[in-house]
Amino acid sequence: MALKVYNTLKRKKEEFVPLKGKQVGLYTCGPTVYNYPHIGNYRAYVFGDLLKRVLKSQGYAVTHIMNITDVDDKTIRDSQKAKKSLKAFTQEFENAFFEDLETLGIQNADVFPRATEHIKEMIDLIQQLLKKEHAYVSEDGIYFKINSFKNYGKLARIKLADLEAGASGRVTADEYAKESANDFALWKFYTPADGDVVWDAPFGKGRPGWHIECSAMSMKYLGQQFDVHTGGVDLIFPHHQNEIAQSEGATAKPFVKYWLHNEWLLVDGKKMSKSMGNFYTLRDILAKGYDPLAIRYLYLGTHYRQKFNFTFEGLDAAKQAVQRIQDCYANLSDADAVQHNKDVHKRIDELKKQFGKAMDDDLDTPPALAALFEFVKDVNVMLANKELSKKDGQAFREAFEEVDQIFGILKKKEKPLAKDLQKLIDDREAARAAKQWKKADELRDELRKKGIILEDSAHGVRWKRA
Ligand SMILES: [Zn+2]
Repeated sequence: MALKVYNTLKRKKEEFVPLKGKQVGLYTCGPTVYNYPHIGNYRAYVFGDLLKRVLKSQGYAVTHIMNITDVDDKTIRDSQKAKKSLKAFTQEFENAFFEDLETLGIQNADVFPRATEHIKEMIDLIQQLLKKEHAYVSEDGIYFKINSFKNYGKLARIKLADLEAGASGRVTADEYAKESANDFALWKFYTPADGDVVWDAPFGKGRPGWHIECSAMSMKYLGQQFDVHTGGVDLIFPHHQNEIAQSEGATAKPFVKYWLHNEWLLVDGKKMSKSMGNFYTLRDILAKGYDPLAIRYLYLGTHYRQKFNFTFEGLDAAKQAVQRIQDCYANLSDADAVQHNKDVHKRIDELKKQFGKAMDDDLDTPPALAALFEFVKDVNVMLANKELSKKDGQAFREAFEEVDQIFGILKKKEKPLAKDLQKLIDDREAARAAKQWKKADELRDELRKKGIILEDSAHGVRWKRA
C-alpha cells in the first residue's frame, strides 16, 4: 500500500506523490515568538514531526523548513509592553521554543528562518505583486487585491462572489475572521506606534504583514513550488489562503501540492482559553511533574484530523502506557532461554504490517498504537514463560526501535543520576557481591525512599525513577 494523505485543498485523501521523485519539501508554520506556546500549538508541531518521520521512514529525503515569526502585530505590541527591544523580547521566547521542541522529541527542521532576516525577500515578492497588479498602494500600506486573484477562497472554501459586498474593504490586522475577508496588508507603512521596528523599502518604510512572511521564506528555501505545507486548521483562513494568493499571484504556478491540517485541541471538552481557566502551556504541564514522552504519546493517541480532547486523566493513562512499552523493551534485554522461538519473526512481521497499514492511511496513529500494544502484550507473555532466547530478545528490541523511529516514545532522556544516588547503587552492588544481603536490602529501601526503583536482572541492576 502507498501512503495516502488528506489534502485540504481537495478535501479528500490522495496518494502521496512528490513533485520530484524521492525529494520532499515540507513547510510548517512555526511559532510567533511572543509567549510560551500552549499545548494546542504543540499539537501542530508534533503532527509536523510525525509526518516528517513517516516520510523519512519511507525513504524520502525531506527538507523541512519552519519559520520563526519574530515580527508581527503581537510581537511588536508585547515587546513594547515589556519595554524591551523586539530582538531581546523575541529571542527569549525563541530559545524557550527550541527547548520545548527538544523536550517533546520533535526533530529539528533543516532551517528555522526568522522573519526579520528575510525582509529583502518579502520586499521583492511585494514588488512582483505590485508589478502584476495583484497589489496596490494605499495610505497606510500595500494591500493584496483579492478580486485580482481568480482562485482566492479555494483552500478555505469561500466564494469570491459571496465576498463581493465586503471585498471592497481592507483589513490591516494580521489576524481576522472569514466574515471580514478583505484585501489584506502585505506591508504596513511606518507609524510611531511601531517604535523602532522599521525597514526601508522602495515603496516606503514600514514592516511586513504576517502572511507575506511565510510565502517569502517558504519559497526561498523550497522553491516556487513544493510538496507539503502543514499547520493547524485555524491557519487555513486567512493565513494559508493568503499565502497561496501571494505566492501564486507572483509566480503563476501552483504553490503547494498537499495542504495538511491538524484539528483543534480541547481541554476537558471545551475550547482552551485563559478566561475559562483551562489554558496550559507545555511548561505548565511539565511543572506538574509529567513526563514529556507521555504528552507526546497522548498527542499521537488521537488522529490528527480529529479534535483532540486533553484531560489529566488521559495524561495519567498515557504515562502508564508509555511506561508499559518502555518496561517491555527494557525487559527484553534479560531474555536468555536456550531455545530460539520460531514465532518471533512472524510476530515482528505482523506488527510491521499492521503498523505500516495504519500509517499509510493518512497517518492513522490510533490503530498503529493499538497494534503496538497487542505486540507488547504478546511479548510480555513470551517473556514471562521464558520463551525467548537472547537473539529473540534482540530481534524484538529492534522491532520496537524501528516503530519508535516514528513514535519517539521509547527512550526517556533520563537526567543522569545525582552522584549521591549513584553511590548508593554502587554500594548496594558491592554489598550484594559480598553477600551482605541485609545491607543490600537497606540500601535498596533507602533508594526507594529517594524515588529510585531498582530492578535486578541476570545482567546487572537497572534503575528507574518512581
Ligand atoms: Zn505561516
